[in-house]
Amino acid sequence: MRSIILIAPPAAGKGTQSDMLVEKYGFAHISTGDMLREVAKTDEVIKSKLENGELISDDIVFDLLQKRLEQDDCKKGFILDGFPRNVNQAKRYDQIVDELGISSNVVIYLDVDKETALKRIVGRVSCPNCHRVFNDMIDEAMPKVSGKCDDCGSELIRRTDDNSETFGKRYDVYINNTAPLIDYYSEEGILYKVDSRMGKDEIFGVIENILGGIND
Ligand code: AMP
Repeated sequence: MRSIILIAPPAAGKGTQSDMLVEKYGFAHISTGDMLREVAKTDEVIKSKLENGELISDDIVFDLLQKRLEQDDCKKGFILDGFPRNVNQAKRYDQIVDELGISSNVVIYLDVDKETALKRIVGRVSCPNCHRVFNDMIDEAMPKVSGKCDDCGSELIRRTDDNSETFGKRYDVYINNTAPLIDYYSEEGILYKVDSRMGKDEIFGVIENILGGIND
C-alpha cells in the first residue's frame, strides 16, 4: 500500500496534483480540508476557524482521517492532501503507517514562493460537486465555460478563505506549523522537493518521475 503526502503552502497546487494522481494511478484522494469544509456546514466553531485560516485540533482531524482510511478505496494507496499540517500530526501519522503496514510512504513538497501562491489563490474557483479546481486568472486553468465545471457542469464556487487577507494568515500558519515538516521528513529520508512555479503538467511530470523511481 502506498501513501503519498503532499506538503505545500496554500494554493501551491496540492488539489490539482492530487486530481491528476487519482486519474493516473487510481489512488484515493484524502483532503482533510475538504472533509473539514463538509463538517463546517453544520458546525459553527469549525466554520469560523476555517474562515480565519486557523488549524483545527489534531484530535478532530485524526478522527476524520481514521474513518476515511477504513474505506475500501484506500486499500491500493492514497494521497494525503493537506495532512499532516504540523509535526505532532506527522508523528501520530508515523504510527498509522506502521499499523496499516504501508510499504511506501513518500512526501512530495511543492515549493512555491508567497507571491505566486497569492496570485493563484485570488483566482481559484472549485466545483462543490466533484471538487475539481480551476483558476479564472490563469489561462491554462480556466474552465471552458466561465463559472461552470468542465467535468460535471456544476456552478463553480470560491472558497470563503480564498482572499488576500486570510491568505496572509494561512501562509503564516504554514510557515510556523507546517514548514517544519520539511526538516522532519528530510531526516526520515522520504522528502522530494518539486519546484511548483511551473505549469501543472510539468509539475506532474516531475512527480511521475519521482514515483516511478520508488518501489512499492
Ligand atoms: P486546505 O483545503 O488544505 O487548504 O485546508 C483548509 C483549512 O482546513 C485550513 O486552513 C485549516 O483551517 C483546515 N485544515 C485542513 N487540513 C488540516 C489539518 N491536517 N490539520 C488542521 N487543520 C486543517
